[in-house]
Amino acid sequence: MPNQDVNAQNPAVLADSSQTNNVLGAPWPSSAVRLADGAVQIGGVDLRALAQQHGTAAYVLDEADVRARARALRTSFTAAFSQVGAEVDIYYAGKAFLSVAVARWVHEEGLSVDTATGGELGVALRAGVPGPRIGLHGNNKSAAEITRALTAGVGRLVIDSVAEVDQVADLAAELGVRAQVMVRVTTGVHAGGHEYIATSHEDQKFGLSVVGGLTSPAMVALQRVLHRPELQLVGIHSHIGSQILDPAGFIAALRVVLQLRALLAQSTGVVVPEIDLGGGFGIAYLPGETDLEPQQIAAALAAAAAEVTTELGVSMPRFSFEPGRAIIGPPGVTVYTVGTVKPVQLADGEVRTYVSVDGGMSDNIRPALYGAAYHAILANRVSTAAPVTARVVGKHCESGDIVVRDVLLPGDVTAGDLLVVAATGAYGRAMGSNYNMVPRPPVVGVRDGVSRELIRRETEQDLLALDQG
Ligand SMILES: *Cc1c(COP(=O)(O)O)cnc(C)c1O
Repeated sequence: MPNQDVNAQNPAVLADSSQTNNVLGAPWPSSAVRLADGAVQIGGVDLRALAQQHGTAAYVLDEADVRARARALRTSFTAAFSQVGAEVDIYYAGKAFLSVAVARWVHEEGLSVDTATGGELGVALRAGVPGPRIGLHGNNKSAAEITRALTAGVGRLVIDSVAEVDQVADLAAELGVRAQVMVRVTTGVHAGGHEYIATSHEDQKFGLSVVGGLTSPAMVALQRVLHRPELQLVGIHSHIGSQILDPAGFIAALRVVLQLRALLAQSTGVVVPEIDLGGGFGIAYLPGETDLEPQQIAAALAAAAAEVTTELGVSMPRFSFEPGRAIIGPPGVTVYTVGTVKPVQLADGEVRTYVSVDGGMSDNIRPALYGAAYHAILANRVSTAAPVTARVVGKHCESGDIVVRDVLLPGDVTAGDLLVVAATGAYGRAMGSNYNMVPRPPVVGVRDGVSRELIRRETEQDLLALDQG
C-alpha cells in the first residue's frame, strides 16, 4: 500500500515545503502539521509534550476542527435548502462521541444534539443544551428514559415500534405533557461506503417498514400517533447507514419518505412538518481518501427535495440531519507509545513487522469489529530509514487486537517512539471498553497551543471502585 506519509518523514521532502508548517492534510485534523524535527503538532500542541503531560495512550481532539466541521455542515445545508424554500436543523449524533465539552462546542456552533440513551441525554443536559434542542432515539427505550426525555421537554422523541406509541403517550399523560414525536421508518435503502442497496422487506431491529402502503407498520404507527392527543407528530425519520460517500442512497430514502408523507396527507389530511434523514456522512480514514463534502451532499439533497416535492405535488417540509462521524471523526487522533517491535516471517518469505502499542481494541474496537482500516505515522522524530511493512497491534489477549492492519512505517521504529493514528474521533472512546482491565485513555482537547483533558484517564482505582470484593 502506498504511503504518502513516509515521504513526509523524509527531510528532503520537508525541505521543499515550509519547514515548520508541513500540513498533513486528510485524514488528519485540519491543524495537524509536522514540525521540522519530525514531531506532529495538533491544535498548536506538540504531541511529544502532550504525551509527557497526559500519558499515552491518549485520544486527542482538535477543538477548532470539530467546531469548523459543525459550522460547515450547518451553513452548507442552510444555504442549499434555503434555495429550495426549506429550513434545516443539524443534530450532532452524540453516540459517535459525547462529552460535556463537545456537546457545548456543537451547541455553540448552532447545532442540536441527538442522543440514543438516557446516558447520552444526561450528558447533553449536563452541558446545558436545552431540552427542545435534543432528540432521543432507541429501539428499546426504558420507561425511565422516556420519562426523563419528556421531563426535559426534548424536541423529538423518535418512536421505533407500534407498541412504543402508546407507551410514550401513556407516560406523557401521566406527566401532563404533550410529547413531540417522530416515527422512524425503514425505507429499504441501505448504504455504506460507495454503494447503496434497496431491498423491499427489512430484516433489522430499527424502525417501521413502509412496505404495504396504507397498512404498513410505519403507517399504522403514524395513524396511532395522530389518535393520541398526548402526542404531537413532528416528523418522519429515516437513517440508512454509516460511512456513506455517495448521495444516491439518501436521495432514494428521501423519495420513499416523501411518498409516505404524501400518502399520510391523502388519507388523513395531516401534513407532517419535518423529515429527518439521519446521519452517516462518510469521512476519509486513509491518505488519498476524501470526506463526503458538506456542500456537495447538501446541494444534491436540496435539489432532490425540490424535484420530488414538485413531482408529488406536495409542500416542502423542514429537514433535519444527524451527522456524528463527519463532525467528530477526523478531528480526533490517538497517540500511542511503541513497545515491542517484532519481525514475523510470513509464508511467502516476506517479513511483517508487528509494532505493539500501549492500547488497542479497548480504545478502538472498529478494526476488530468491522475490519476498519486506519492509518498511522511516527509522531516524535524524523526518520530516514527505509519503510517496512508493519502491522500496529494492541496489548490485549486477542490476536484480532489490531490497531492498523497494514501500514508502512520507518524501519527503525522502536520502543519509546510515538505513533499517532488518524481519524479515531468517532466511535473510538464511545465504543471503548475495559477489556483486560485496561483503564480507558483520556480525551485531550487541543486548541491554540493549549491541551486540556475533556475526559480524564481512568485509573485502576476507578475500575476497582465497582468491585464489591
Ligand atoms: C448512528 C446514527 C447516526 C450517526 O451516524 P454517523 O455515521 O456517525 O453520522 C445518526 N442517526 C442515527 C439514528 C444513528 O443511529
